Amino acid sequence: MSMIRIGTGFDVHAFAHGGDHVMLGGVRIPHSCGVLAHSDGDVLLHATCDALLGALALGDIGHWFPPEDPSLKGADSRLLLRHVMSEIHARGWQLGNADTTVICERPKLKPHIETMRHVMAEDMRVDISRVSVKATTTEKLGFTGRKEGIAAQASVLLVRA
Ligand code: MG
Repeated sequence: MSMIRIGTGFDVHAFAHGGDHVMLGGVRIPHSCGVLAHSDGDVLLHATCDALLGALALGDIGHWFPPEDPSLKGADSRLLLRHVMSEIHARGWQLGNADTTVICERPKLKPHIETMRHVMAEDMRVDISRVSVKATTTEKLGFTGRKEGIAAQASVLLVRA
């Protein structure tokens, strides 16, 4: 029986015209606008959820949390991550490590990276040393470079609990 599984996730949300913050990695980051989303629009947590689900071939975040579900309006994505993690644990797996990247021109993420790692490690119930959050830009190219939105990608390794 296989003892490790790998998963990848990717998510994008467009910036909105209004708002004063974005949620990233479960952290509220002040910004000149928010993002358009049914939930709180946390691309980093959504990409991480998709990676976790993908590792066990459990479908995607839209399957588990349908955007048309009114109870998810404005939902705290940490609840989604914790729910996904409980499904992983229930199947006898735990997180080996997660490596993630947020891609945007603004806001600047460096001051928030450690808090994001802390929050995500807590929600995935592992030591912070197993959770990597990186930030990059696309050198002003493409939709992230034009500050039209934020993207995130995640890779996870699951190990048998
Ligand atoms: Mg999303």
